Amino acid sequence: MTHDTQHMTLYNGDNIARKKRVAVYPGTFDPVTNGHLDIMRRSLKMFDKLIVAVAHNPGKDPVFSVEERVALIKKATKGWENLQVDHFGNLLTDYMKSVDGRVIVRGLRAVTDYEFELQMGLMNRALDPSIETIFLIPSEVYSFLSSRIIKEIARLKGNVKGMVPEAVESLLKRKFGK
Ligand code: ADP
Repeated sequence: MTHDTQHMTLYNGDNIARKKRVAVYPGTFDPVTNGHLDIMRRSLKMFDKLIVAVAHNPGKDPVFSVEERVALIKKATKGWENLQVDHFGNLLTDYMKSVDGRVIVRGLRAVTDYEFELQMGLMNRALDPSIETIFLIPSEVYSFLSSRIIKEIARLKGNVKGMVPEAVESLLKRKFGK
């Protein structure tokens, strides 16, 4: 088998081969919330493979290390088919090329996300016109969630049950005390 055919799948028993549709969901995920998981579930219905890519993002001064952020997503998505968790520190469009990804998935919670997302989407298109960005809307119960607000609540010893996966809840308690 050549390297090329390894990336092909056959469907309908035909000899028609097509490329796998690989989407990438990039983010800081500091930490992953149930809103992020909602977006992942929706993406998996649309693509053959979803790569959740944790951005190193040192500029954002993350509370959790890259390793912790990756491990928390892996734990929360254990057994999910066609999902892979990875991390990257280079330009997103370069990372996309390295994994043969054509689509960037982002979540839109409210209009307040729009301006930033539009700017990033257009910049990524300027850097690589072959890549498309799509926006998915989470269930409204998660639309008020953000990693930033979760950390704020945890710092103030509030209850984040039902907003984040259990592993995140326990690590937050360990970090911020309870
Ligand atoms: P970034 O620092 O790249 O914005 P985040 O981890 O904060 O990374 O978010 C990653 C993506 O997930 C972004 O597109 C963001 O809008 C989206 N997102 C964050 N929280 C939610 C949520 N509660 N519901 C749906 N999408 C979300």
